[in-house]
Amino acid sequence: GKADIECEVVVMGAGPGGYSAAFRSADLGMKTVLVERYATLGGVCLNVGCIPSKALLHSAFIVDEVAALSRHGISFGAPQVDLDKLRGFKDGVIAKLTGGLAGMAKMRKVEVVTGVGAFLDPHHLEVETSSGKKTVKFAKAIIAAGSQAVKLPFLPEDPRIVDSTGALLLKSIPKRMLVIGGGIIGLEMATVYSTLSARVDVVEMLDGLMPGADRDLVKVWEKKNAPRFDNVMLKTKTVGAKATEAGIEVTFEGEKAPAGPQLYDLVLVAVGRSPNGKKIGAEKAGVAVGDRGFISTTKQMTTNVAHIYAIGDIVGQPMLAHKAVHEAHVAAEAANGQPSHFDARQIPSVAYTDPEIAWTGKTEEQCKAEGIKYGKSVFPWAASGRAIANGRDEGFTKLIFDEATHRVIGGGIVGTNAGDLISEICLAVEMGCEPADIGKTIHPHPTLGESIGMAAEVFEGVCTDLP
Ligand code: FAD
Repeated sequence: GKADIECEVVVMGAGPGGYSAAFRSADLGMKTVLVERYATLGGVCLNVGCIPSKALLHSAFIVDEVAALSRHGISFGAPQVDLDKLRGFKDGVIAKLTGGLAGMAKMRKVEVVTGVGAFLDPHHLEVETSSGKKTVKFAKAIIAAGSQAVKLPFLPEDPRIVDSTGALLLKSIPKRMLVIGGGIIGLEMATVYSTLSARVDVVEMLDGLMPGADRDLVKVWEKKNAPRFDNVMLKTKTVGAKATEAGIEVTFEGEKAPAGPQLYDLVLVAVGRSPNGKKIGAEKAGVAVGDRGFISTTKQMTTNVAHIYAIGDIVGQPMLAHKAVHEAHVAAEAANGQPSHFDARQIPSVAYTDPEIAWTGKTEEQCKAEGIKYGKSVFPWAASGRAIANGRDEGFTKLIFDEATHRVIGGGIVGTNAGDLISEICLAVEMGCEPADIGKTIHPHPTLGESIGMAAEVFEGVCTDLP
């Protein structure tokens, strides 16, 4: 039969990848349909990820900073927390942004179809809408169906055992909380809950928290954050849990496992995210999906089917919103016949904890593993006027460069605002500049950003390709 809707480009999923792809497609003049199962656009990032977590983390940061002001002679009373209001603020932030996206979709004449989509064949998608099934006939498709939190199968179903989405609901503040998984998401939520008075334990299978970051960056965070935690159990596994009236009784195995079961009021499972590749009828379109649900693509973001593209969490690590957005632009442009490629030299990672940890390009650990001869320069914030004036001089800024080419290939920052500061190092790596280029750039004084200039200054004399 005839399709209900016909378009040049259909985008499946309206997260950062999906809406960016749809907007770029429409801007390039292609008739675009955006299929999203939820009522609001924005996907995980806006609804239950990046944005709500940052709304809560900002409040937590201020609470901790205000408490620290007593050292400067300014004291306030203990914080009075109105959870309903805090939740309301966070929900308002989400509503503002998702509403903004809906407006932008309308302005661009992107047709949004609300419902669960699945491929019928290489040129048709079926959407299960609230008013019945609708078929979409498309010339090109961009899959941006994202990922979901990994579950631990041995944990019982219980409202006191949640994933990040449940933790962001902020129903109540537990007395004792367990965070399973010491990655960015787990530790961001641990920061929020501990500032709001929960005592937190963390259990992590690996031998360090925040895998992927250079250890020296993590150490600074660990020192500052030790008071938040009763017990950080590295090289330890959660092996069982029992729901009792008194709480969730959790048992552990491994190097730092406590002798007996531990009782918690809230357990957050943050052990990673798995791609939604197996839930979209990909096989009917002939799109190959790997065992774990990832879809492989070329640098133009095409799948094994030439007119079907895939982007974002569903195509692989790192599962980050800014990676999804850049892949989205490439996919839409490629679908438009342009020679765009995803060829990033660096994708930054940020833990929005306190202090923040941000890194990009090659880490020292990666350089060692890959046999890259590298040099580094570290500027301690204990020598930064601004960091000292802020009462937050525990951080440092590090630049990593290739000894053979003298180009900046990576860097890391731990300290307040590290996530905002890292962008300069992102640009340096992407442009292939030398430390001297940064060192000779005048940075404003006194700022935290100056620390990047200071780290680079050491190498002002070291230039390879000056005429
Ligand atoms: P998603 O955002 O997952 O969107 C996919 C969309 O597709 C969803 O809306 C889903 O409903 C829809 N969908 C799926 N299947 C179908 C279907 N069959 N039919 C219709 N619709 C469908 N990243 C950062 O860069 N910075 C951060 O600070 C950050 N913080 C995070 C905090 C948390 C708690 C979490 C969970 C994640 C965080 N992330 C962060 C990761 C970030 O959210 C993801 O990388 C990003 O959302 C991926 O975008 P995406 O477009 O690939 O997919």
